[in-house]
Amino acid sequence: QVKEKGKGHFRFYRSDMNEAFPNYILMESHLRKAIDMNEFVMHYQPQVHLKTGKIKTFEALLRWQNRKFGNVPPGQFIPLAEETGLIIPIGEWVIHSVCQQLANWREKGHQDIRIAVNISPKQFLQSNLPEVIQQALIENQLPASSLEIEITEGAMEDTRAALSMLQRLKELGVIISVDDFGTGYSSLNYLKSFPIDILKIDQSFVREIQINEKDAAITKTIIHLAHNLGMEVIAEGVEEKDQVQFLVSVECQKAQGYYFSRPVTAEEIEQKVLYA
Ligand code: C2E
Ligand code: MG
Ligand code: MG
Ligand code: MG
Repeated sequence: QVKEKGKGHFRFYRSDMNEAFPNYILMESHLRKAIDMNEFVMHYQPQVHLKTGKIKTFEALLRWQNRKFGNVPPGQFIPLAEETGLIIPIGEWVIHSVCQQLANWREKGHQDIRIAVNISPKQFLQSNLPEVIQQALIENQLPASSLEIEITEGAMEDTRAALSMLQRLKELGVIISVDDFGTGYSSLNYLKSFPIDILKIDQSFVREIQINEKDAAITKTIIHLAHNLGMEVIAEGVEEKDQVQFLVSVECQKAQGYYFSRPVTAEEIEQKVLYA
């Protein structure tokens, strides 16, 4: 089928174009049913302590497997969930699922594991978020320190709301980290006054760390900044050995990325990490 698009311009429409341009209205109706249909599963990516090689923390990353759309990447369905408000029930499902996994691993003797959960900006501004988290911790008999909350700089734009939410979360005792640090609304002011435990260096700085002097300088500076403020620091998106060597040389505490492991199922974490 050929449609005319202005004078002398033609665009071709093929039936398989849905794959490149997903039908978001149809996708939304599937996303709405995804929890009930059991279509979500959490994957976990190890975070490696560089000095010791120990792995005690994992980032939880949501996966959606749908009949019609197949494996939809979070980069596609998370923004859709944010726009439609579906992120609220989905986010609660994630918190409960992660807390159940923590309880399961603790029962198996791994008491010192921590899991980091991504919280989207809309979810972060829900006033009952601390209660939702507390409920999940209590149900699964977990210490709050076994749960880490990852928020992006974008969630902190409304500084007063963000500060009061962070204080409530901190009172609960959960660990707080800033995801994709350095890519958003970066104000040094919030680092001074917000109760932040960890900075996650965005993968865009890590990618060319060995060849781009500016990326190397920014990475080093974030590491010093974190240490001088008494925060932990972790590098994201580490894919190569050279990057690990650089990060070790500048005393980055932890790293996460395909070099060590892709995000994998809980079963694979057990086989490859916990019982390796
Ligand atoms: P993020 O939190 O910054 O997560 C890191 C992303 O980088 C993940 O993509 C991860 O699979 C990927 N990654 C890890 N190591 C490497 C590496 O070495 N190289 C490269 N190129 N990529 C690496 P993923 O799983 O597709 O998630 C994308 C984003 O979707 C996440 O970015 C996060 O913002 C969001 N997301 C994922 N799961 C959840 C969730 O449960 N809730 C919410 N609200 N957002 C989520
Ligand atoms: Mg994250
Ligand atoms: Mg990130
Ligand atoms: Mg991200």
